[in-house]
Amino acid sequence: AQKLELITQRLRGFPDFPIKGILFRDICPILKDPKCTAAVTDLFEEYVRKKHPIVDLIVGLDARGFLFGPLLAQRLGVGFVLVRKKGKLPGPVKSLSYDLEYGKADAEIQEDAIAPGQKVLVIDDLLATGGTLCAACELLKVQQAVVLDCLVVVELKDLSGAERLKPHTVFSLVSYD
Ligand code: 5GP
Repeated sequence: AQKLELITQRLRGFPDFPIKGILFRDICPILKDPKCTAAVTDLFEEYVRKKHPIVDLIVGLDARGFLFGPLLAQRLGVGFVLVRKKGKLPGPVKSLSYDLEYGKADAEIQEDAIAPGQKVLVIDDLLATGGTLCAACELLKVQQAVVLDCLVVVELKDLSGAERLKPHTVFSLVSYD
């Protein structure tokens, strides 16, 4: 509870960013505070150890999933795989186009990143409409990965991302209505 309180304290909202009408939840103060960063990793680790005894890989989403994913992967002693925006990954990739809360994007993963049947957790900083995580799960399905769960620091409940993600499940540390 103390850890969650610290995380909540370190989140801040910026109105009208990146466009008018969006209240952007900024996670930068979490990372600036090592205790708070550790608290995030602790809570993710605690949840995963309880819920998922076997995890093969952590898959992080561009770009803020890259900040929290490797920390958790190290704790669990597993590898980390990147899902990136278009054109950033070398070699053969699989891509998927998807809609965002504001705009459009393409997600890519290296074809050899995951072996069929590997059990993965997908991590990002924030769940809004769920478009980004859905696209990642879709890509992972093509790779024949087993998506155990999605993990986010923040969930924006009123955008119903968790609904859109079904049948996949999501674990969030902090949620806003
Ligand atoms: P979704 O695809 O669920 O609509 O949007 C989630 C994606 O957009 C995540 O990759 C997340 O990093 C980014 N995003 C959207 N809104 C916010 C926000 O308010 N704060 C942060 N930190 N990221 C956001």
